[in-house]
Amino acid sequence: MHPSQIINELAEDRELYFNAVSPPIVQTSNFAFKDFASLRGAFDDEMSTYLYSRGINPTVDILRQKLAALDEAEDCLVLNSGASAIFCAVMSNVQAGDHIISVHKPYTWAWKLFDNILPRYAVTTTYVDGTCIENFEAAIQPNTKVIYLESPNTLTFELQDLEAVAQLAKSKGIITIIDNSYCTPLFQKPHRLGIDLCLQSATKYIGGHSDTVGGVLTGSKAMIKQIFDREALNTGAFISPFNGWLLLRGLRTLPIRLKHISESTQKVLAFLKSHPNIEKVYFPFDPDFSQYKLAQKQMTGACGLLTIALKAESYEQIEAFAKSLKHFLLAVSWGGHESLIMPKCAGLCPEEFDASNQEHRLIRLYIGLEEADYLIEDLTHALARL
Ligand code: PLP
Repeated sequence: MHPSQIINELAEDRELYFNAVSPPIVQTSNFAFKDFASLRGAFDDEMSTYLYSRGINPTVDILRQKLAALDEAEDCLVLNSGASAIFCAVMSNVQAGDHIISVHKPYTWAWKLFDNILPRYAVTTTYVDGTCIENFEAAIQPNTKVIYLESPNTLTFELQDLEAVAQLAKSKGIITIIDNSYCTPLFQKPHRLGIDLCLQSATKYIGGHSDTVGGVLTGSKAMIKQIFDREALNTGAFISPFNGWLLLRGLRTLPIRLKHISESTQKVLAFLKSHPNIEKVYFPFDPDFSQYKLAQKQMTGACGLLTIALKAESYEQIEAFAKSLKHFLLAVSWGGHESLIMPKCAGLCPEEFDASNQEHRLIRLYIGLEEADYLIEDLTHALARL
């Protein structure tokens, strides 16, 4: 199905809601039944009935069908955050005594799950450099149940060869999970490459306006039903009707926002690459990127986030650079309308800063919906002050 059809038409049955063009927010916690038999039917199959909104809700269900189709997946859950999508996907596939292989430095709340919570239930994790398939192979143990991927990650954009990892995992009966937040289903289709579960933070590009937190999890009917019946219903991880509606509204403009941001990012990239105060730029669709070929093979686009290594000699210099930017907010997250800056050293005390360590001088930029020349002018001034 064409993405335009999915985003604009799929699952929209207007006769059910007064022919309104915009689907209503069905703001109810509860649904009533006309007789015992239909209530019993809902108990038997909560996933295909409106019983209670800590399960399936009509507004969210429209979004659910669209997001499943965009990911080319059989089914989908729309959850209240990307972190809950990570939690539900992983918890559903491990039990005491199991082992996980994860890429190095996955998103913060993924490694906190692996390091802080799962060891309490006797589940261990090995981290590998995911740029090389042999590292996954070497880390497999008889009790490995899950391979956790994030391709690309959102600081230095290391990729994994998704097809190769999926093939290896399938041959050993291991479940693969990917965080696809950077690409969204428009720029990468992990299920096509054999990945079992695909998740994303909908807070980023799907929402697109920095006003909603949400998460998406897609996979086979059987895997998604298991997660629905256990982890998601038990933790109450579903998105609310209002936030689901905001994501639906955001989704309408996803293709046009990604197109605009892709074009601006390329212009900003070209400017940054030629600037004498910048040592290195990390961006997966830069021909100089170490995994550019793989990025071109498995992604159809890249945009928004890119990272620079600033030629700075001190913590204060980086702080001054961030401060002199007028159109980039100092903030975490990304995917909204506003451009952002996130210096890696903001997580350090000034005394810990080591200028000889490039990692300390990394600054992640998010290019939002502003025009590229407006942002480049801002960067020009701030860089000149260095
Ligand atoms: N995955 C990545 C790569 C992220 O950057 C984030 C949030 O920053 C998440 C997952 C978690 O998403 P959320 O903040 O919606 O819980």
